[in-house]
Amino acid sequence: MVKKIDHIGIAVENLDSAVAFWRDSLGMPLQGIEELPARGLKIAFFKVGEVLVELLAPLGPESEIAKFLEKRGPGMHHLALESSSLDEDVAGLKAKGVRMLSEKPALGAEGFPIIFMHPKDSACGVLMELIQK
Ligand code: ZN
Repeated sequence: MVKKIDHIGIAVENLDSAVAFWRDSLGMPLQGIEELPARGLKIAFFKVGEVLVELLAPLGPESEIAKFLEKRGPGMHHLALESSSLDEDVAGLKAKGVRMLSEKPALGAEGFPIIFMHPKDSACGVLMELIQK
């Protein structure tokens, strides 16, 4: 079951200037910065009420975020919904014809399992992630 919006991922070219905007201009407390070398990502987290904003910057040119930035420029990358059970929700979505981008969940930021839905199946042009905490 989907519980709530967990976080919004925003692709940025320059993490330092994006962090400066969220921290200094908006006055949001920086929760942390994490590198995920396996996914070629460096992520800064801001908590905005109940929702996290993740600023996603590429670690190198082969990163999925580097490819996204090249194609679409900086902007909203994905919306993550918190799932009470990835196994159940993925099975339920697959039964309704929604494809996933990977066979199995991967470990995302902070070590939580995540999986992405196929963007063509979410019918809203937004890449959707499920995360179990
Ligand atoms: Zn995410």
